[in-house]
Formats: sequence, C-alpha cells, structure tokens
Amino acid sequence: MTATDLRTQAEEIHEQFSDQLDLDVEDIVERLDTLVNDYQVPISEARRSVVNTYLDEAGMERDQLASGGGNEQVQVADVDAPEEWVDMRVTVVELWEPRADAVAQVGLLGDETGTIKFTKWSKSDLPELSEGTSYALRNVVTDEYQGRFSVKLNRTTTIEELDEAIEVGDDSVEVEGALVDIQSGSGLIKRCPEDDCTRVLQNGRCSEHGEVEGEFDLRIKGVLDDGEEVTEVIFDEDATEKLTGITLEEAKEMAMDALDTTVVADEMREGILGRYYRVTGPTFGRYVLADDQERLTGSVDADEVLIKARSI
Ligand SMILES: [Zn+2]
Repeated sequence: MTATDLRTQAEEIHEQFSDQLDLDVEDIVERLDTLVNDYQVPISEARRSVVNTYLDEAGMERDQLASGGGNEQVQVADVDAPEEWVDMRVTVVELWEPRADAVAQVGLLGDETGTIKFTKWSKSDLPELSEGTSYALRNVVTDEYQGRFSVKLNRTTTIEELDEAIEVGDDSVEVEGALVDIQSGSGLIKRCPEDDCTRVLQNGRCSEHGEVEGEFDLRIKGVLDDGEEVTEVIFDEDATEKLTGITLEEAKEMAMDALDTTVVADEMREGILGRYYRVTGPTFGRYVLADDQERLTGSVDADEVLIKARSI
C-alpha cells in the first residue's frame, strides 16, 4: 500500500463525511496508515473501521452516508420519511424530562404546519434549547416510529437562534365514534429498553436490538367508527389508564396471576368495546394519538355498534 493510495482512500472518506463532520485528511491518512502498516490490516478492513469511527462520531448509520450537497429546508408536515438530513425553522413548543442519560433534551418542535418530537443527544454537546424560542436548525436527521416522525439533533447539527418568532400551528384533530375494535399489540406490552428505541417487542425480541429484557407498558390500538369512516387511535399508558381504569401495576398483577399477558387486553376489551368516545390529539401517519378523550353517551345505537364490532 503506497502513501498515495492511502491518501486517495482518505480523500474519499473525507468526501463521504463532508456534510456532517469537519475532518482533516491528514488525520484520516494517519488512522489508515496505522491500521495498514503497523497492524497489517487489509486496506478494505481498515477503511471500514475508520468509516465506522466517523459514523459513530456523527451519530449516523452506514446507509446515511454521503450523497453530498446541502439539505432541503423542510416544514414539520413535510417530514414523511426516516433517515433524511434536513434543515428546519422551528419554535421549541415543549421540553420534556429526558428518560435516559444519553438524551440531553427531548420535546416538541413546531412551525406553521404542526409539531414534531425532537431528541438531542448528550454526546452531541450542543447548546441548550429554550422553550418558546425560535431556531434555525441545520443538519437534523428524521426518524420514524409507528408512523410517528421525529427529528434527531446530532453532533453535526447547527443551532441558530432566530429574531423572528416561528408561529406554531395546531395539528390536533377531534374524532368521535364507537370503539369497534382493539387491535393486536394492545393491553400489557413490552418495549425495548435500549436508549430511545422503545419498539414493542415481539416474542421478547426487538426488531432492531434482538432479544432484550423488555419494559412493561400499557397501550391500546383501537378503531373508532363514526358510522361513515373508521379512524385508528393509539392510547398511551396514561390515556389507556384513563380509558380503562386499569393501571400498569394492576395490569402486571393480572398478567402474573394468569401467567399470561393477554388477559389484560381481554379485560380491557370487555370494558370499552362498543362504547362511544370523543378523542382529540395529533395525527401521525394513519393514527390519531389520544391526548384527550371523553366518553359520550346517548347518541349511539348500541346494538348496531355491537353487531359491527362482532363482525370485524
Ligand atoms: Zn430496540
């Protein structure tokens, strides 16, 4: 391996990360040189190893590598695919308490078109965002979980406070209808405990992290039918507890007594199926996420609803 070859490889790597990292070609040459000439690692393997180091540093996945060019300036409602590098002008609507040390800040960003969750990593070492302040964010990465999009601020993100205030639109909707179905994946579920993963486990496995010790959570994926159209609604732990009167602790006890987690969904189904609800919350993909809900009475033909419910 000649020095020229190493330099060519280093320049290619430099180009691959030109959008995300401010790398020095000399540093890359040195890393490759150490692996190839001191440790006798084949160049392909050395290159892979060096690239992996920079992927880690940038908080990127291999398939996000370098198409080159600037990012698209997008609005919140435009975010419809994961793993895209974008720029946004947004206001910090809400900050939440981070659940993991790896997360420095987490909350909601908004613009005229709606709101979107954001996560800022601790290791990214970025300035603090303040609630109610508007920013231009460059180089954020989109992510998706169950049709719900979010953006991640990473080490390469730049944050510029804006003088103008970005107005935040309300993307909440209100749906009413009879709860005609409760879908699988409802009741007492287990989620992946990896930082910021929270995927629902199937048979103890996370689709991303494999077999893990899951953390219990409550969720209902339900279908509301207003007689004209059906809407899929997701109730998180709080909303599920409000809806069913069953707490996470009670659900765990029920499951332990029965040695079966599915008893929880069965019990919940009994209490709420066929009843009429009004649910408000933001939409994500085809779902409405229940922020608020109330039970309605009187205006529904219970027999008709139950016939429908049984037929689904
Ligand atoms: Zn996972």
